[in-house]
Amino acid sequence: MTIAAGDTDYETLSAEQTVSLASGDGLAAALRRIAGALPEAAALNAPLDRYAWVGIGGPADCLVVARERATLVRAVRLAQQAGVPWRVYGGLTNVLVPDTGLRGLVVLNRARQVRFDDGCRVVADAGANVIPVARAAVGRGWGGLTWAVGLPGTLGGAVVNNAGAFGGEISRVLTAADVLLPDGRVKPVSPDWFEFRYRYSKLKAAGWGGVVLSATFQLRPGDPERLAAKAAAYTERRQRTQPPGRTLGSTFKNPPGDYAGRLIEAAGLKGARCGGIAVSEHHANFLINAGGGTAADFRALVDRIQRAVGEQFGVVLEPEIEMVPDERPPGAASSSSEPERTH
Ligand SMILES: Cc1cc2nc3c(=O)[nH]c(=O)nc-3n(C[C@H](O)[C@H](O)[C@H](O)COP(=O)(O)OP(=O)(O)OC[C@H]3O[C@@H](n4cnc5c(N)ncnc54)[C@H](O)[C@@H]3O)c2cc1C
Repeated sequence: MTIAAGDTDYETLSAEQTVSLASGDGLAAALRRIAGALPEAAALNAPLDRYAWVGIGGPADCLVVARERATLVRAVRLAQQAGVPWRVYGGLTNVLVPDTGLRGLVVLNRARQVRFDDGCRVVADAGANVIPVARAAVGRGWGGLTWAVGLPGTLGGAVVNNAGAFGGEISRVLTAADVLLPDGRVKPVSPDWFEFRYRYSKLKAAGWGGVVLSATFQLRPGDPERLAAKAAAYTERRQRTQPPGRTLGSTFKNPPGDYAGRLIEAAGLKGARCGGIAVSEHHANFLINAGGGTAADFRALVDRIQRAVGEQFGVVLEPEIEMVPDERPPGAASSSSEPERTH
């Protein structure tokens, strides 16, 4: 069965394929069917630590690494049809995946086609990494994304988070996007649709369920030498102020009128450790996976920092990173660490 929607036709699970998801067995069967429909891209029980920037994360019940937009759309629509829980990530640079892994379908967006049009326009799949796109724009003498030459992650993640640095923000150069809606339709949207605020779009709201498929950015002509000098200065500043290694970026939002890093340092926690996770000596708002760190270690250190800063300064530090809560009872995760290929 196919349904015409948006820019592509797509299949649905037939009535016979409909399963009861009330039981774990029903979910497992639905995920096997989705994996079977995407044999080149899917794996069952696939560890996520190797994909996460911070190097932490248990297995996804079913992981699809989508190298084409069509694969991403198909995987999500199959999950929507089957009523299976699903989510899409980009570079996994800003998400702490629990040690017990993630239930349902996880799609990693690796669709990376990018077009640089006349008139300083960039049209890109949301899975394209920000850094090479921003560097290529600088190389062409196009201004507007220079602030992003050191921003880890994908364009899709940057749009959803309204990422920014050095006074720049992705929402200021975005002019259009294609979004896959919860009902499976693809909708071209304008920037207003996202309701952007500081480091926020409406796709960040819990349970919204839309996927950015592609984005268009309007940049502006500039002086290539000046842009290159600016990019070099931003890169140098990042290297000087941020620690290298496996992190999730800034852990906490800066509270009004202050800096999270300053408060953590003042609380005497620079260098503090929980298991394999340490507060960076370089910048106290960065927590580093010093080796063998777990999500439980990370959370324990976040709790310890929040408690100490709260008790000593009366300030509530709010996480800037996304920490996914445990989704399985302890002991319920699969004991196998080897992904089960479906082909
Ligand atoms: C060393 C370091 C430095 C950083 N510096 C900065 C900085 O200067 N400024 C800044 O703003 N951030 C910074 N970050 C945070 C992070 O890089 C950004 O938020 C980035 O834009 C996230 O992109 P991602 O592709 O990794 O998203 P992910 O971490 O994969 O996902 C983040 C969220 O976006 C959602 N998402 C991802 N792609 C899509 C999509 N296509 N459709 C719908 N939802 C999607 C995910 O479901 C998740 O909720 C830094 C992180 C690190 C590790």
